[in-house]
Formats: sequence, structure tokens, C-alpha cells
Amino acid sequence: MEKDIDELLEEVENKFINKNNEDKSRKLLTAHTLSSQSSFRCDSSDYDDILRDVEDHTDSKPMLSKSLTTNSSPTASAGIRCFPVYIGGSDHSSGCSTVGMPRSCSNLHCISCDFAVYTFDNFQWLPDTDYLFLRTNMPEFERVKDHLLPLEGCRAYACQCSHYATSIMKEVKSVPVLSWVCRSH
Ligand SMILES: [Zn+2]
Ligand SMILES: [Zn+2]
Repeated sequence: MEKDIDELLEEVENKFINKNNEDKSRKLLTAHTLSSQSSFRCDSSDYDDILRDVEDHTDSKPMLSKSLTTNSSPTASAGIRCFPVYIGGSDHSSGCSTVGMPRSCSNLHCISCDFAVYTFDNFQWLPDTDYLFLRTNMPEFERVKDHLLPLEGCRAYACQCSHYATSIMKEVKSVPVLSWVCRSH
């Protein structure tokens, strides 16, 4: 007797499932797994959102691929580096440099001492400025100003191992003693 009821229930359940399956497969999933509603509801609503999104647009495939591209674009666009890398005087615009738009790089980093490169506009370095002085006093202006001489249009650069001053725009690689690279913008 019990077996008969079980078989009957199973048969009804199968019919019920199959019937729903013909209607809408995702509703079957929700109905069939009442005990784990929450997870399926979540999946189902996400699915519905995607379907609604797709239905809003007549041509769904380009729309989906476009949204994927948009999601990945922030990482792709982050971290633009100067090319070529320029240093320049205080009159030159600073920022990110491109081939058609040379600018003095505003985010230089020394790969020799692993220290940021700081700039002091309208100054040049005294000839006796050396490694030990920079190592001890950079980047505090108050501590290095005694080694800076005012010079209009000049820009004094220094990390903790090297220093340089220029009034003209030039590529960093044209000064072989400098191990300065653009650290992106
Ligand atoms: Zn740069
Ligand atoms: Zn350095």
C-alpha cells in the first residue's frame, strides 16, 4: 500500500515537473527546491535581470559583449607611463608625456635608490651637492634649501642619490647618470 502511494506521488511529481518544464524551466527550479529557496531565488532573480536586460535590446549579443568590455576597461586604462620620459624647466608643463605632447614627467621614481624624485621650481643645485647630503636631507625643502640657488626658469630635481637641474626640456635617458623612470599617471 505504501509503495503504491510512493509510486503515485513520484508519478505526480514527475508530471508536475515535466509540465512546468514545458512552461518555464527556471520556475521549475524554484518550485522544485522549496527547501533551498534563498539561493535559487537569488540565482533566479539574477537570471531574470539578465533576461530583462537582453529583452530591452533587440540585438542582445553585441550588448553583452560591450558590457564585458566596459567592465574590463578600467584596469586596461590604469597606469599610463610617459613615453618618452622628459624632465624640463619650471616654465614647461608637467604631467604625462606622449610622443606628440612632450611634458616633464610629474611622477618620476629612482630605480637606483627606490625613492621618489622631487622637484624645486626656479632653483638649481649648488655644485657641492652630493649623495650623502641628499641621503640625509631629501625631500625636506627646509633642509636642502641651503644647497639650492634661485634661478628663474630652472627646475631642480633630486631623489636620495642623484640630483639634476635643467631649464630645457630633455629626455631623462639623455642624462646617463640618472636612473629615473616614470611611475605612471
Ligand atoms: Zn610620467
Ligand atoms: Zn636615486
